[in-house]
Amino acid sequence: MIPEPYGGRLVESIMDKKEVERVLDDKLPRISAVPEQVYDAEKIATGAFSPIEGFMGSEDYDRVLDKNQLSSGLPWTIPIILTPNGSSMGSLVAGDEFLLNGLDNEPFVLIKIEEKYKIDKGRFAERVYGTRDIAHPNVLDLQKWGEIAISGRVKLLKKLRVPAAQYEFTPRETRQIFQKNGWKNVAAYQARNPPHMAHEFIQRMTLERDDIDGLFIQPVIGKLKKGDYKPEIIMKAYEVFVKNYYRDDRVLLGSLSIAMRYAGPKAVLLYAIMRRNYGCSHYIVGRDQAGLGNYYDPYEGQRIFDRYDIGIKPIKYDEVFCCTKCGMMVSAKVCPHGPEYHIDTSQTKIRKLLVEGKQLPLEILRPEVVQILESGDVINQ
Ligand SMILES: [Zn+2]
Repeated sequence: MIPEPYGGRLVESIMDKKEVERVLDDKLPRISAVPEQVYDAEKIATGAFSPIEGFMGSEDYDRVLDKNQLSSGLPWTIPIILTPNGSSMGSLVAGDEFLLNGLDNEPFVLIKIEEKYKIDKGRFAERVYGTRDIAHPNVLDLQKWGEIAISGRVKLLKKLRVPAAQYEFTPRETRQIFQKNGWKNVAAYQARNPPHMAHEFIQRMTLERDDIDGLFIQPVIGKLKKGDYKPEIIMKAYEVFVKNYYRDDRVLLGSLSIAMRYAGPKAVLLYAIMRRNYGCSHYIVGRDQAGLGNYYDPYEGQRIFDRYDIGIKPIKYDEVFCCTKCGMMVSAKVCPHGPEYHIDTSQTKIRKLLVEGKQLPLEILRPEVVQILESGDVINQ
């Protein structure tokens, strides 16, 4: 069954044209924020973060950091907060309204201030990312955040302008597509890289299950870190891949424009909650999802589902690799051969080959994907 949104109700806070005109006429203050928070504002308004209706107040913020739950008691692992920088915020108080600028500096959401409170960025870093080390890109990003958080409901004037906008569905839209396709049980596949054979293996294994009707592949393509693939490259690679290798009545490709949180298990839980809001009943978790370096236990992202029930079923996979002796993608669960037969399929290796201008291995990448990756300027600088 297509699950109910998290918390029972899909949040949708989108203005009609008349309301937009009125709000723009009002000459409200216009505030800018870091890109990660701009993306979050849109996701709140379209319901991807249901049941959250606005940027979090201090009560939710503290409960999430201390207990991994909202003040209502629902599990939640990463605070969604707004911390604009600059003096423009100084005169605004609770009850005031302002417009938040999008990435193009055009106002795109209206926010009514409920509360202003001070945050401790060190505490945030430690609780969410498990480290204060600025070698961690998300921790480094915190330096650009303001010290004061503003809570308040969010109302959307217009959708953000993003790359590959035709793939940026709202939860209402994906729910409608799933229903139209007759899909009751949909597995969500979280990605942040162009597809290679290990990803494909996991997607195919999922599609073969008799309890899965459809697969929703939804790469995170908002703010990524340096050295990641560019958002439009990830989508182009997936586009040719899905078109050439999957049935269109079994697979839907979408994008999720938000900032990637490299927070290991905590990010896994947040991303799974979001996919439930998009209408997915199952969530695929491989090894070290949303991980980075050695910051997180690579299988903690699977175990966290044992501790928190968020109403979406995890589908867990071990690490998958290519074995030349087996002649296919395998996991340690089935392959008896030694490491001398195994080909490293990691993105780290693929990106290294790309940077060195070497040929990409066709054992682990589809030729259509290779063509996209070799097309030039593909890495986020
Ligand atoms: Zn083998």
